[in-house]
Amino acid sequence: WTEGTVTDAENSLTELAALAETAGSQVLEGLIQRRTRPDPATYIGRGKVDDLGAVVLSTGADTVICDGELSPSQLRNLEQRTKVKVVDRTALILDIFAQHAKSKEGKAQVELAQLEYLLPRLRGWGETLSRQTGGSGRGGGAGGGVGVRGPGETKLETDRRRIRHRISRLRREIKSMKTVRVTKRARRSRNAVPAVAIAGYTNAGKSSLLNRLTGAGVLVENALFATLDPTTRKATAADGRLYTLSDTVGFVRHLPHQIVEAFRSTLEEVAEADLVVHVVDGTHPDPEEQVRAVHAVLAEVSADRLPELLVVNKTDAADEDTLLRLKRLWPDAIFVSAYSGRGIDGLRAAIEERLPRPAVEVRAVLP
Ligand code: GDP
Repeated sequence: WTEGTVTDAENSLTELAALAETAGSQVLEGLIQRRTRPDPATYIGRGKVDDLGAVVLSTGADTVICDGELSPSQLRNLEQRTKVKVVDRTALILDIFAQHAKSKEGKAQVELAQLEYLLPRLRGWGETLSRQTGGSGRGGGAGGGVGVRGPGETKLETDRRRIRHRISRLRREIKSMKTVRVTKRARRSRNAVPAVAIAGYTNAGKSSLLNRLTGAGVLVENALFATLDPTTRKATAADGRLYTLSDTVGFVRHLPHQIVEAFRSTLEEVAEADLVVHVVDGTHPDPEEQVRAVHAVLAEVSADRLPELLVVNKTDAADEDTLLRLKRLWPDAIFVSAYSGRGIDGLRAAIEERLPRPAVEVRAVLP
């Protein structure tokens, strides 16, 4: 379903397909439905559900992925009608974050986000309780048996309690891990080493640029979300000053709020940087939209007031017309290719020029 233009929907769907492939799925076919608003019962509307059912049958798909966040009852209705597993964008993104988290803190944060997503949906997923509640069951009493309570409900309650327990435990753990990180960060800022954060839409080339700038040997993957745990490297400016460069988590459109919450502490690190190097993929069909999405997330963690250096990457593969258009649109941006190295020296100089100057200690020696 989309409220925007068909091109928006197509871009979003292409991205969804890339996300699904990142998660290890094989994508068979895409369907777009234009409506003024989502159907409360089935999200895509009754007629489209039939089309979807036909596509599922003809392709032999075992999963349907919806580009949006489904309510628990929409998810259940769609599963009942298509007879296959239905996943929404949020669940898919959470799944990818779970596969990619490496640090202890990252893993705990993703698990927390997943459980918070799961808790209100517990009823929709299991077969434990099939009683329909609430008003969104319009369009043909899907939801099945009445009075299937008893042991099912008890199990559901136990599951919920267990999940709530785990959630509070994870919150405590994350809080203590955060303290350690804040202490480390405080030490860094006492040393007054300027910090540069590399932010940008997922797959824009942040890790590749970090490698180019520092020779760091960071994992580069043609997959969304290769970067979850921030990597920090030291760099030396031409005039000998030290500074740090950190790669941050990837940003995507409609980043589930559970993820923004979970990664708030990681993102907050961006908010304490002295400079944000915002990397944009010059080969993307809609770079402006990516820039807007990144700005929206930066604003959520109050990192939108920081000095920002816009960098258009992948100039080796971008087409000339697009580059010209982007140069007019963003006259102060730096154009680079992490692949060929073009523009990297200029970028390094631009970064160093924007680093805060250390307070100069003046000592007068009197005769
Ligand atoms: P990140 O998710 O922003 O950290 O992006 P990565 O650094 O992992 O790069 C994502 C993909 O873009 C990888 O397939 C890279 O090989 C590719 N890539 C990165 N920089 C360039 C570049 O300058 N030119 C081209 N053509 N591809 C690039």
